[in-house]
Amino acid sequence: PLVLGIETSCDETGIGIVRGRTLLSNTIASSMDEHARYGGVVPEIAARAHLEALQPAIEAALREAGVQLDDLDAIAVTSGPGLAGALMVGIGAAKALAVSLDKPLYAVNHLVGHIAADILDASAPPLELPTVALLVSGGHTSLLLVRDLTTDVELLGETVDDAAGEAFDKVARLLGLPYPGGPEIDRAAASGDAHAIRFPRGLSRASDLDKHRYDFSFSGLKTAVARWTEQYDGELPVADVAASFREAVVDVLVTKALAACADHGVPRLLLGGGVIANRRLRDVALARAAEAGVTVRIPPLSLCTDNGAMIAGLAAELIRSGRKPSTLEFGADSTLPVTEIQVAESVAV
Ligand code: ATP
Ligand code: MG
Ligand code: FE
Repeated sequence: PLVLGIETSCDETGIGIVRGRTLLSNTIASSMDEHARYGGVVPEIAARAHLEALQPAIEAALREAGVQLDDLDAIAVTSGPGLAGALMVGIGAAKALAVSLDKPLYAVNHLVGHIAADILDASAPPLELPTVALLVSGGHTSLLLVRDLTTDVELLGETVDDAAGEAFDKVARLLGLPYPGGPEIDRAAASGDAHAIRFPRGLSRASDLDKHRYDFSFSGLKTAVARWTEQYDGELPVADVAASFREAVVDVLVTKALAACADHGVPRLLLGGGVIANRRLRDVALARAAEAGVTVRIPPLSLCTDNGAMIAGLAAELIRSGRKPSTLEFGADSTLPVTEIQVAESVAV
């Protein structure tokens, strides 16, 4: 099926068009520049930016894909999780399109969309299931067990406080680096010693592991960095702090992801989310997975960060497996659980 997907859960206005598992276009407009001066995504600004960006992004995606609105078989949209106001803008546009064009509408889960992104990577062999998936972004840090993309995604664990990307952003601020902090920390860390300072690995003590084996915590790490920098006398060794902080995040992400693979006897790990841009995370994941006999899949970055193609791709899979469209009675669900892969599926008649 030819599907247009709309993604507006955070600061990216993403419009993607797929034909089945073939990616035709993936247009992304980000309002990140507008949030930069506030040091974080401002929900009202994100929502307004989506409103302005949607129409041109839809036109650009159609042009790039070489298709017309009438050609579409279905519209797909992110229903949650994400920022409620931002989600609502995409949902309003999707409903308007579906009604005016008389096309079926699929309301889908953003996190499962991140997994679906992987099947659009034409350069990779077909996705094998089950797989463990680690999704790390500015808003999420989740470890999932995916048995079936359209029916069976289990949440193994997630962050109990800050998301990994958020931790990068907050620590960058502590170090006087601009927002978004991920790329800045990465750059600063390049000349630093990752073992200069031993920062804590959240929820990794033996006593944490029975209840929080697959959960993450980054706020203690952030506090540890703050305390260390406050107490330091002299010119701050920014490169060493950045490298040591990054190592703590990467270590705990990879350790827990590989533990999930081992515990479930699943020798496959899929990575997704904007933090995957981190070179060190990719390198450590690849090296330690190889030692453990685990295959790692990393889609291209344009499919890892928030985008509309993954939403269209997930809807195409739902259609393929015979699912009915969503009714129009759904809204934004900022805390939509990962088990709700599709929202408001119509009842078969
Ligand atoms: P969501 O949480 O809804 O998926 P988001 O917009 O918060 O969306 P992304 O756009 O996927 O997340 O990723 C942005 C986050 O990734 C920011 O927190 C940013 O600091 C972080 N990031 C980007 N590049 C890097 C990097 N090289 N290293 C570490 N973190 C990075
Ligand atoms: Mg973003
Ligand atoms: Fe996302």
